[in-house]
Amino acid sequence: MTIDGKALAQSIKEDLRERVESLRLRYGRVPCLAVVIVGDNPASHLYVRSKIDAASFVGIDGMEIELPKDVSEEELLRTVSKLDSDPAIDGILVQLPLPRQIDPDKVLDVISPTKDVDGFHPRNVAYLHLGRPCTFPCTPKGIIRLIDSTGTRIDGKRAVVVGRSNIVGEPVAKLLQDRNATVTVAHSHTPDLAAITREADILVVATGHASLIDGSMIKPGAVVIDVGITRDGAKLRGDVDFESASKVASFITPVPGGVGPMTVAMLMENTIECFEQRMASLLSAPSEL
Ligand code: NDP
Repeated sequence: MTIDGKALAQSIKEDLRERVESLRLRYGRVPCLAVVIVGDNPASHLYVRSKIDAASFVGIDGMEIELPKDVSEEELLRTVSKLDSDPAIDGILVQLPLPRQIDPDKVLDVISPTKDVDGFHPRNVAYLHLGRPCTFPCTPKGIIRLIDSTGTRIDGKRAVVVGRSNIVGEPVAKLLQDRNATVTVAHSHTPDLAAITREADILVVATGHASLIDGSMIKPGAVVIDVGITRDGAKLRGDVDFESASKVASFITPVPGGVGPMTVAMLMENTIECFEQRMASLLSAPSEL
């Protein structure tokens, strides 16, 4: 069965819209998300548009800050720091990738962990791995929701994650382990990848290598989550060959319409959670209001 990420994301956003409305009644304002985009990469602009549109649907104030592709690192850091110290802003996201002259680590460092809606700040990453409360990165969080939506029990399952990036592979492996799956992480140096992927009850593929996984590499009845996005002209392709894989898997996400919409829905949820936590801490320290 195809897992309809678009429909799941839509129903989550509808619930979030009600949550935002009750926050508005309680605090007299709604969460505000600032999205910074540098340069004119068309894919990045599309992603930012979908985030701002989702914010508007949910009732979050979305603010888009566009900077030219030759902006200096210093100027970008100044812009992000200013947003960070603005009490009216609850969440900050800097769209990646950034142009070469900018070190993304320096940018992440100037966002307060409490406004880091992407969950990329070193403190949030460390807390995730330490099992302390933190903002989870959006894509891994969305992947767990997609698996849960199938009714599959993660506990005790054999999970394989292909890809070990800081934003997808590593954190989703940790979240699966936290749910008591036995997790193997494969990467570009893994010999005989098919032998590993065939052991997976839950297979998450995040490589950016189109159609890397086909049906012959999947255990019958597995749940398959395809994170990859590769542009092929006007078409988007995943890391999994949907046609052959869907004949073997019990559940599989399509590309597009699987992980992508859930990433955006989780960004909305993270923004709301950051707002709620900030409001709660401000109310407990009213002198800072
Ligand atoms: P990275 O390029 O940071 O990481 C890719 C990972 O895949 C690396 O760990 C790499 O191994 C591994 N890899 C590459 N080729 C192979 C191979 N042939 N066999 C096994 N492993 C391989 O990518 P990201 O994690 O940032 O993104 C992965 C994909 O997911 C991309 O297509 C991206 O566009 C998409 N994406 C989609 C999102 C969504 O919302 N739908 C969100 C984020 C990403 P090694 O470490 O050895 O180099």
